[in-house]
Amino acid sequence: MIARTVFAANWKMHLGPQEARGYAERFLAAVAPRQGRELVFFPASVSVEAAAGAFAGRSDIRVGIQDVHWEAKGAFTGAVSVPMAAAAGASCVLIGHSERRHVFGETDEDTARKLRAVLAGGLTPFLCVGEKLPEREAHQTEAVVLRQLRTACAGIASGDLDRIVLAYEPVWAIGTGRTATPDDAALVHRSLRGALDVLGARHVPVLYGGSVNGGNIAGLLARPEINGVLVGGASLDPAVWADVIQAGDSVIR
Ligand code: PEP
Repeated sequence: MIARTVFAANWKMHLGPQEARGYAERFLAAVAPRQGRELVFFPASVSVEAAAGAFAGRSDIRVGIQDVHWEAKGAFTGAVSVPMAAAAGASCVLIGHSERRHVFGETDEDTARKLRAVLAGGLTPFLCVGEKLPEREAHQTEAVVLRQLRTACAGIASGDLDRIVLAYEPVWAIGTGRTATPDDAALVHRSLRGALDVLGARHVPVLYGGSVNGGNIAGLLARPEINGVLVGGASLDPAVWADVIQAGDSVIR
């Protein structure tokens, strides 16, 4: 039984520090805390500190970072380490987002290194898995997401695995306006939950992501298999994101 419903916002490469502060002001005025609901924002790395400061007064809100390197420091131009992210105020890290995998060429093994680094640094990893359209059409969805999950988690103790949040994000649904139906998503979530059980991780929230909006969120969250959402486009405007959360609130347990 997962005690909380997670509403996670991935701002991708939008909203600089000043815009993040303005966003937070408007969002905080629109959305009050609620029992059983956790809010997470993933700003661009340059805006993490501003967002963490702006949301600091709200214990129901956490701020994360969209990517990290697995090394703590070194000659990795453009990269950010886990200790640096933590020092800027991040308590969560997106790992293996489809844009990292398929735009920047990140491998399953890279996500595994990052997952270990984030756990070792005491932050919460949000591990993303999901199949591409040709894989779905070839009926490989389950094989792909289970491979991504198992490779990332190989050799990690179940106690540590219980600290992760997992997000099923079909690549064909991200930023496309196409969403998996609640039935389709629930089917994949059941497979992922089964694999997590085998790994001994029984408290991992499994989120759905991929063109979630105010019109489809209630149908998705009504499914007991879906413990929250990871949202890009519909989280970029505080008023729109507040409306999506309100629509989700209507069905959370
Ligand atoms: C995402 O970036 O993780 C995502 C799901 O984006 P969108 O909601 O825009 O599909």
